[in-house]
Amino acid sequence: MIRARLNPTPPPELLQKPVVGVLLPLPLAGALDYKLPAGLNAPRGALVSAPLGNREVLGAVWGAAEGAVGDNRLKTAEPLEGAPVLPAKLCDFVDWVADYTLNPPGAILAMALRSRGAFEPEARRIAYVRGSVTPPRMSAARARALEVAGDGLARSVTGLAEDANVSPAVVRGLIQAGALIATELPEFLPFKTPDPEFAAPSLNEDQAQAARVLREASAAKKFSAHLLDGVTGSGKTEVYFEAVAEALRQNKQVLILLPEIALTVQFLERFAARFGSRPTEWHSDLSQKERRRAYRAVMSGEARVVVGARSSLFLPFPELGLVIVDEEHEQAFKQQDGAIYHARDMAVVRARIEDCAVILASATPSLESFVNATGGRYSHLRLAMRHGAAELPEVKLIDLRHEKDAPDVEHKGQWLSPPLRCALDKVLAAGEQAMLFLNRRGYAPLTLCEACGHKFTCPHCSAWLVEHKYKKRLACHQCGYELPMPSSCPQCNETGTLIPCGPGVERVAEEFAAFFPNARYSIASSDTLHGPAETQAAIRAFAKREIDVLIGTQIVAKGHHFPQLTLVGVVDADLGGSDGDLRARERTFQLLHQVSGRAGRAEKPGLVLLQTRNPEDAVMQALARGDRDGFYAQERQFREASQSPPFGRLAALVISGYDGDAVRTIAKALGKAAPAARDVKVWGPTPAFYALLRGQTRERLLVQAARGVDVQAYLKAWLALVKVPASVRVAVDVDPVSFF
Ligand SMILES: [Zn+2]
Ligand SMILES: [Zn+2]
Repeated sequence: MIRARLNPTPPPELLQKPVVGVLLPLPLAGALDYKLPAGLNAPRGALVSAPLGNREVLGAVWGAAEGAVGDNRLKTAEPLEGAPVLPAKLCDFVDWVADYTLNPPGAILAMALRSRGAFEPEARRIAYVRGSVTPPRMSAARARALEVAGDGLARSVTGLAEDANVSPAVVRGLIQAGALIATELPEFLPFKTPDPEFAAPSLNEDQAQAARVLREASAAKKFSAHLLDGVTGSGKTEVYFEAVAEALRQNKQVLILLPEIALTVQFLERFAARFGSRPTEWHSDLSQKERRRAYRAVMSGEARVVVGARSSLFLPFPELGLVIVDEEHEQAFKQQDGAIYHARDMAVVRARIEDCAVILASATPSLESFVNATGGRYSHLRLAMRHGAAELPEVKLIDLRHEKDAPDVEHKGQWLSPPLRCALDKVLAAGEQAMLFLNRRGYAPLTLCEACGHKFTCPHCSAWLVEHKYKKRLACHQCGYELPMPSSCPQCNETGTLIPCGPGVERVAEEFAAFFPNARYSIASSDTLHGPAETQAAIRAFAKREIDVLIGTQIVAKGHHFPQLTLVGVVDADLGGSDGDLRARERTFQLLHQVSGRAGRAEKPGLVLLQTRNPEDAVMQALARGDRDGFYAQERQFREASQSPPFGRLAALVISGYDGDAVRTIAKALGKAAPAARDVKVWGPTPAFYALLRGQTRERLLVQAARGVDVQAYLKAWLALVKVPASVRVAVDVDPVSFF
């Protein structure tokens, strides 16, 4: 009797090679078909090395093959060693973001694979431990080395030589004699696991109530969105840390997104104080090696909490259980280069795909989040009290149009008004601290020739050159173009006719020093402080009261706690309030509210003085009355009436390129081709705010649509109508937040 063979193995020539779609991290239209090695079937997300032209590209198996190319012409993609697989939910997220932002999925995948070498096999380190053999010849040095090695720790040759104070040759001799034996160590030290029970804080009633809701949401393991809306100093961080603790107890990973500027040592230390160890960091300052270590640790699940800038949203978490976006209103969450996306909005999407909770935290939420919270789509958790004894500062407006209050701008180039100087005087006399805020770097935003009217502009951008007095240079803040401060006018050749117009922080500092020659001050802007370390040092010096007055740009606006800071002076509160941008008012309010929140955070009450020429303006009035919700109500009405976001939808096309004529031609062609559709209006083309940027001409078209319109479908249909030459780039910005 012949018995049927179970699982017969077919002869090799009959074994079919599976064909799959592989997505490459390149801006191609979609996945490409590849064969997999015989007998292998890789799941979605499996990483492969795929031949493309004459190179090998890292890619991910994405789905079924399209089948357009004949089987025999397909190349073979090889799975990576160790068969790493991107989590399926991350793949879904990549597809979702690509669909929503109208970017090629490969361009989004590139953000999820942003660690060169993360998938290469680990480079193990060789180290040595004490073996059982005793060397035939003993010397004092050898004995010392063996005694040190006797503690059982594995050390490198140089490490042991240093610890035992012997030469490396002695150590090598012992290895040869078999007295030390080699062992392998992992390439990276493991990340410590944050301990949810390490130091639970004591919370006030408001905080405890919000923490309870967030803990439950974190434990529920299903999608929910929350706006943690608390005045500055109300202790939002302590509250969301309780949700982090709960996620850790549930064996879930956590992602905390911060705007890059807020990613400070202070935050990491606060985290460590609560959880006993620092979180895993992910931002642009990491070295390649640190990135590789962090990426691998996230993917293996070893990294339990990641604190990162917006790009950390695309990390391969296998067990993501909570997403937090702190300072959710910050514009820094919008990526403007390359693939344009809003990390706050996409964080909500990722949480939905992962089926977990997302917490948006802010003292001045974006109007979008505020409307979602008050409309019941998000839970609205309010923290009204400041933590401890601190009270909110008093805010007063200084009307610069009143002659007696106005500084002598015309004749003496002054920007500090008499009432502000008087307040500074009092604070300094009392031995307290003050902050002067002006959101403008450099000395003067414009240099002008008195004789002929020549204005210095950037040759590559439609922007003025900003004078930097300390560097003795004129600089473009858009592209970085610089030139030495000229002594004569390039147009009329007159000397001594160049005058600075308007103030930057350096000029305000000069004026301050003239009025208060004995006060200790420091300028804080991205020109004077290079990198996070210097910024930290300046902030620490201020906190330790080595400085009386900090004069700075928005670098000083947030997150810092200075108990002796009792006065904040805003030099020009109107700056940025009138550029016709939909969100300009909201942004001005948010920034000034944040700056004001620096004052009076301990027992001493704070005072905020806003210098303005528009004291009747709704933003100024709301700030002076401390009526944040009144401002939101008004802004909401205005947006609703104009069908602006979140009550309508916007999308922009930015057409750019070095060939100005080609850019304008395509912009015009796109304008003409815009399909007529119900509830959709198209504006433009018009030159962008920076019509010239880094040498490229820029034109814009704006789509305004009712909330129910499928904007993506509309844009896709439209873009298919115009053939764009390679010299011109058309960038799609869905939900634009600025109009530069
Ligand atoms: Zn001139
Ligand atoms: Zn420029």
